Amino acid sequence: MGIRTGRQYLQGLRDDRAVYVSGERIRDVTAYPPFQRTVTTLAELYELQHDPAHKPVLTYPSPTTGEPVSTSFLIAETAEDVARRVAGEELRAEATFGLMGRLPDFMNAMVTDAAVAAAYLAQHQPQFANNLVRYYEYCRENDLCLTHTLVDPQIDRSKGPAEQADPAAALHRVRETDRGIIVHGARMLSTLAPFADEIWVGPFYPRKAGEEPYALCFAIPIDTPGLKFICREPYDTGRSRFDRPVSSRFDEEDALAIFDHVLVPWERLFINGDIEASNSFLVHGAGYALLQATIRGVVKLRFLAGLACHLAEAIGRSAAPHVQAQLGELVAKVELGNGLLRASAQDVVAARREGLSLRALAAALWVFIPETQMRAAEIIRQLSGSGLIMTPTERDFDNPEIAPFLEQYLQGKGLSARARVRLFKLAWDLIGEQFGSRQLQYEWFYAGDPIFTRSRFYRSPVVDNYKQMVMRLLETAN
Ligand SMILES: Cc1cc2nc3c(=O)[nH]c(=O)nc-3n(C[C@H](O)[C@H](O)[C@H](O)COP(=O)(O)OP(=O)(O)OC[C@H]3O[C@@H](n4cnc5c(N)ncnc54)[C@H](O)[C@@H]3O)c2cc1C
Repeated sequence: MGIRTGRQYLQGLRDDRAVYVSGERIRDVTAYPPFQRTVTTLAELYELQHDPAHKPVLTYPSPTTGEPVSTSFLIAETAEDVARRVAGEELRAEATFGLMGRLPDFMNAMVTDAAVAAAYLAQHQPQFANNLVRYYEYCRENDLCLTHTLVDPQIDRSKGPAEQADPAAALHRVRETDRGIIVHGARMLSTLAPFADEIWVGPFYPRKAGEEPYALCFAIPIDTPGLKFICREPYDTGRSRFDRPVSSRFDEEDALAIFDHVLVPWERLFINGDIEASNSFLVHGAGYALLQATIRGVVKLRFLAGLACHLAEAIGRSAAPHVQAQLGELVAKVELGNGLLRASAQDVVAARREGLSLRALAAALWVFIPETQMRAAEIIRQLSGSGLIMTPTERDFDNPEIAPFLEQYLQGKGLSARARVRLFKLAWDLIGEQFGSRQLQYEWFYAGDPIFTRSRFYRSPVVDNYKQMVMRLLETAN
């Protein structure tokens, strides 16, 4: 089949999926008003692949059919291949201003990583490795959109899933049948779930002996019987694009994924209780998912830096030295991000060729990007003052009784009141409103807890080199 059109993508979402919002089951997610504008954004991304101006960047010929398929499925062996992945993913991230963390690209990249890791899995269970490669090809050829869920419910984090008061709460294998395994329990979160074709359940936390029923990896269609998604409140409340410039288009949704005695067919199972495979599977990928997340994060930083500069200029503060220092700090950090992105792409090439570790990529993703997103939001708040809050609605501007006052009192430096308010509304939607607060929470946690992930750097072998340097100085000081 190859790349889908926007219409084909939308058609695929009209199935028997069990998606709940505010206590109501949503029969057609494409027609539900709070979801409609986000599914339109996603459909536009599918459509973009058919645009002759972008098709060469966004697609490559399928190794099995020769038909165009998304570059986010490319198993990149060379520097040129990795550059193709970066170009395609950067284009889609730019199209959404870096605001959708779980663009289909992300899971396409993760499934491609999994296909690379299949070589490792084959040493454990060859039939599951074959399943994985076939599944990757299926996603690639059908241009599927996936959600994923890796984390057990946050009930009592001081204990593993088997030690919880209710050991049946976390997703686990209940029994095996001739058709597959029956699983039951929940995982959280599952971003993009209402808008996806399939769900990927993967390993994330290290599992230990006794947790075999929880050590699972599989993928099934969203409309599989027994699978239910309970969504958080949507942030698109139907307000105009003027009033909510980003939540009206980019709310990718998050859901609790509930598996109520769900059948996972044998051919969709990739890990079934193998603790060692579950714990080491992810590190045998190629780093494509991490690279996609880094690209998306850096694109968003560019957008935030641009926005901060506009805000300062709109209120005539951009000449103040301390404001320039804050803006300069952000722009410099974007440059660091761009550099880390280039180094990350090289890391991916080197890792494929020589088995080196993905240190620059990991540093970008686990340390630099979450911290810089937080810092950018802080700078935007600090330099905006009350402008972030005093943002009347589009309907206020449409009321002739008050519009002239707004035009007079809310104008900016060389900007009409409408243009100035529009800018600050964008900033508030992006960092303050429900959508904005969720963005910050997402940026901090989506790749795991950055406080804990960064401790891996202290444990990395390179630390010995740094410590030896100190000893070298001390030895020559004698
Ligand atoms: C908006 C959003 C979207 C997400 N989307 C997805 C998705 O699509 N798919 C998916 O699989 N996951 C998703 N996640 C979940 C994400 O993977 C987790 O949030 C992340 O792994 C952290 O786990 P947690 O939320 O359970 O927090 P916890 O791990 O419970 O952390 C909570 C607190 O406990 C502390 N803590 C953690 N570990 C320890 C420890 N060992 N000792 C002491 N303190 C500790 C942390 O520092 C933190 O302060 C999403 C999260 C967010 C916020």
